[in-house]
Amino acid sequence: MTAPRAADDDVGTLPGIQAARRASFAKLGVETLGDLLRLAPRRHEDRRVPRPIAELEAGEIALVIGRVRESKAIRTRSGMAILEAHIEDATGHAVARWFYRGFRPSPLAKGRRVALYGTVERTGSKPPEFKAPELERLGVDEAVEEPGVGRYVPVHPRTTGLSASMIRRAVWNALEAADSMQDPLPASVRADAALPALGPALRALHFPDDLAAAEAARVRLAFDELLVHELLLARRRMARQAERAPAIAFGPRVHERIRARLPFTLTPGQETAVAEIVADLERPAPMYRLLQGDVGSGKTVVAAYALLGALAEGWQTVFMAPTDILARQHLETLRALLEGSRVRVERLAGRMPAAKRREALARIAAGEADIVVGTHAVLSKDVHFRSLGLVVVDEQHKFGVRQRRELLAKGDAAGQERRRPHCLIMTATPIPRTLALTVWGDMDVTVVEGTIPGRVPVETWVVKPEDGRRVMERVHAELEAGHQAYVVYPLVEESDQLDLKDAHAGRERWAKALPKHRVGLVHGRLKRDEKEAVMGAFRAGELDLLVATVVVEVGVDVPNATVLVVEHAERFGLSQLHQLRGRVGRGVAGGLCVLVDRSKADTPARLEVLAADTDGFVIAEEDLKLRGVGDVFGTRQHGRPAFRAASLPRDLAILSRAREAARAIVARDPPLAAPEHAGLARAVTARLRPLDAAERDVPHSAG
Ligand code: ADP
Ligand code: MG
Repeated sequence: MTAPRAADDDVGTLPGIQAARRASFAKLGVETLGDLLRLAPRRHEDRRVPRPIAELEAGEIALVIGRVRESKAIRTRSGMAILEAHIEDATGHAVARWFYRGFRPSPLAKGRRVALYGTVERTGSKPPEFKAPELERLGVDEAVEEPGVGRYVPVHPRTTGLSASMIRRAVWNALEAADSMQDPLPASVRADAALPALGPALRALHFPDDLAAAEAARVRLAFDELLVHELLLARRRMARQAERAPAIAFGPRVHERIRARLPFTLTPGQETAVAEIVADLERPAPMYRLLQGDVGSGKTVVAAYALLGALAEGWQTVFMAPTDILARQHLETLRALLEGSRVRVERLAGRMPAAKRREALARIAAGEADIVVGTHAVLSKDVHFRSLGLVVVDEQHKFGVRQRRELLAKGDAAGQERRRPHCLIMTATPIPRTLALTVWGDMDVTVVEGTIPGRVPVETWVVKPEDGRRVMERVHAELEAGHQAYVVYPLVEESDQLDLKDAHAGRERWAKALPKHRVGLVHGRLKRDEKEAVMGAFRAGELDLLVATVVVEVGVDVPNATVLVVEHAERFGLSQLHQLRGRVGRGVAGGLCVLVDRSKADTPARLEVLAADTDGFVIAEEDLKLRGVGDVFGTRQHGRPAFRAASLPRDLAILSRAREAARAIVARDPPLAAPEHAGLARAVTARLRPLDAAERDVPHSAG
């Protein structure tokens, strides 16, 4: 007798899974039987009852079970191969054909029992036909159960080298391992959340009695995944709270001095945000806070408030931006705020002369630089601070999880005890709060609410190319009035030649149409200095119209720009368009955003959402519904973990339950050392491995 299959067994131990298929499974993230059993199907097909061949109707999707009466492989002159099989049951016979290129199929054995599943075609009195139906080779014994017939049949995510029926059969063969799998959920958690036990859930996930059972099983597995994810976040959070950071005391004098420097009164939304941040900074544990706000909500001044406080108390600070252009822009803002003070500002760029860089680094290490502004160059290994108190990152969705961790690892180099700096990350990606907790679940979130007084909402037109004249006239009028304009072209990838050609042609066209005005072009292929020269000229008002690929997305602030024309708006995501729209209407003159829809279809309702709404949160919700989390936030950028059974935002309710459970568990048993948490502890460790290897490189106390 052989030993029963176990969850840790390699998939290669299953019948029919040799090296090549094993490699294909690895691509799906499946190495063990446990992995395989957790591979949630995409959907189920109702293959409970086969249809008699004589009753098949054109267009129906049907399951047919019969025997091969005749089968042959035919070569065509074009090099294709066709496998043909005549299948008969007690009522009639049907023809099935499969098409191959560069592969010689062998005919099906005569008399073999098979199942076909696919769409029926019928012409006249000819027998029904199936084109490339799914084929199941069935066993001789009709009494033996089969994975692909007589039930709801799972359809799993696929990859090359594995057919749906191979995966299904592998899962079927692995099922006995389900019973021996240790349930990571403590019984109490399972009872509280009213979830089925693991073994039965895994069976029902793949081969359910009905679709409701399949969904209940999926929920159970989604809960597992989300719980493990939340445990990770909860632990990170606890670990951080145990760390030390400088407690920056904002006395009334400090507040007064900061306010005296601000060029305007803060809005109530900004006041609330400042209060939350100040409360964090005053505590001796590191702040790790996301400052979220719609474009134009005035995040910069909130961040500057925190910086000024830290500087006033003698701490070094960092202000990091995703691009040099933005770093310079922030530098100007800060210089203006700091005018007349003794604060010493240092700029660090990615490429600077070695000698200059060495001097800058020396000043930073000696504590002679108070605030360091730059791109991620400020995170290089050779940058050491004397007393770093606060890091502000203007993220504009350009930094990833890894960089954030590098940032957290920057400690106080000279102090007796190693300390972490406080950390504030600004982002303009408007995310529903619940979801922000997933994407950035271990951070606290501050939202800058409300709008800035005097701001006129940007008007939005959705137009077709035929409206070009009207658009041109409006742009012309704005430029005549002394304002500036952007024309944005999509650039899907840096190497996308076609789009680049579009942008070049666009520049020609606009220059010709506006002979009296100065037209510039900036795109991702330009060298950095070239890019900066063009952007600088535009900001300085030396260019009237800037034709650009999406580089303008990242937050440039040119208050005199009043029109933004987006070409091929249909190719952008809603949130992205909303960000772009935020580039205009930053001054007192209001603004216009023109979305040129060049799709063949009628104006998509999608774009109309933008015309109808100016609230980034509403737009983001729409975007989420249309595109899903990964696309909206860029899975890679935020290191958003891929879930197998869970899917967001659909499973937000499950997520909240998982979060509550995770916090309760970690509060009682932070290291997950209790025997009933052993399964969860293992799952958390396993999750750390592929998710974020960088995370473990970062020492927990920066010493
Ligand atoms: P974002 O949140 O998009 O980064 P900014 O911080 O760049 O927004 O602010 C947008 C513009 O509004 C800037 O030009 C800024 O000077 C101005 N601003 C910010 N706060 C106020 C305020 N309380 N009153 C008046 N203008 C403000
Ligand atoms: Mg900004």
